[in-house]
Amino acid sequence: MFNYFDDLATRQLSGATLTRHEALAILESTDEQLLEVVAAAARLRRTHFSNTVKVNYLVNLKSGLCPEDCTYCSQRLGSAAQILKYTWLKPEDAVAQAATGIRAGASRVCMVASGKGPTDRDVDRVAGMVTELKDQHPDVEVCACLGILKEGQAGRLKAAGVDAYNHNLNTSESMYAEICSTHEFSDRVQTVEHAKAAGLSPCSGIIVGMGESHEDLIDAVFALRELGSDSIPVNFLMPFDGTPLEGTWLLRPAACMRVLALVRFACPSTELRMAGGREMHLRTLQPLALHVANSLFLGDYLTSEGQAGQADLAMIADNGFVVLGSPEAATQQGCGSQSSGGCGCHGTHDAETSSGANPTIRRRGAGTQLAPNA
Ligand code: SF4
Repeated sequence: MFNYFDDLATRQLSGATLTRHEALAILESTDEQLLEVVAAAARLRRTHFSNTVKVNYLVNLKSGLCPEDCTYCSQRLGSAAQILKYTWLKPEDAVAQAATGIRAGASRVCMVASGKGPTDRDVDRVAGMVTELKDQHPDVEVCACLGILKEGQAGRLKAAGVDAYNHNLNTSESMYAEICSTHEFSDRVQTVEHAKAAGLSPCSGIIVGMGESHEDLIDAVFALRELGSDSIPVNFLMPFDGTPLEGTWLLRPAACMRVLALVRFACPSTELRMAGGREMHLRTLQPLALHVANSLFLGDYLTSEGQAGQADLAMIADNGFVVLGSPEAATQQGCGSQSSGGCGCHGTHDAETSSGANPTIRRRGAGTQLAPNA
């Protein structure tokens, strides 16, 4: 029987470019079609990334106190969100924080600082941290996220050993003025281009759930495709109390899945990260999302807590995926799984069996005086 999304995946695998019409079909697909959409997107994901999951770890080098007014951000000017506020971490503390994530399996550390953009002194400060981090962990990838870059700053970061630069487009160009008045969409595009020109791997993504239309989403994702982003973090709005988007709850888990699928179809071989807000918006569909996205942040976000890092790792293993860079992933590379799109090493990387904790005896509901569990 003809399956539109499977056929679309076949065409993407043959090198077709996703059209607006097809993008809209993904976003407008029904809940009944969700598994077809996911299965088709999963073919693309498996072809390009096998069963590996890239684990990234965030270190917030400077929190809050930003002069910009991005409406979605808890660190914005005038934010009343009760977040941690601090100025630059000491280099040794930044390196120690990063090392924790690396020990847990992160192959990329994202070093982030709030603010419109760095001064040259800030760039030197981050460069020093990166040099120290790379001395201790030469294999780790470092992504810097410091805001809008001025001429020459991307090159200095590159020279210090930074591998990638993150600057999200966040939404469509036509919607940008609704979410920020202190800088423009073009400033963001320009910074990604500066980073790219300096040889840094461009990382740029979106935030979903700010009231954007399907057309806005498609515009944003196609802009990222045009920009050549090497990794695309898809964030789901976390509407912090004390920010203008407080109380904005517009997302359903299935809709979040469709956005991830849209990105996968539009940019099949690009790293796709299920980023901030995945726990609260994908909810019980998080494991399903691993079949579309091939990357996540481990543990906590910049100003909010994520689920336990160990729960992230268990979710990866329980669903038959392996952490990129782990011994399990290396074993599979030897068997050709990267090229075949599936691993034949059955049983070598299974999740642990359940740990043997005894069932908890029911002492509530029927047969007791206590309320049932419902
Ligand atoms: S520039 Fe960055 S830190 Fe500042 S308000 Fe915007 S998103 Fe938040």
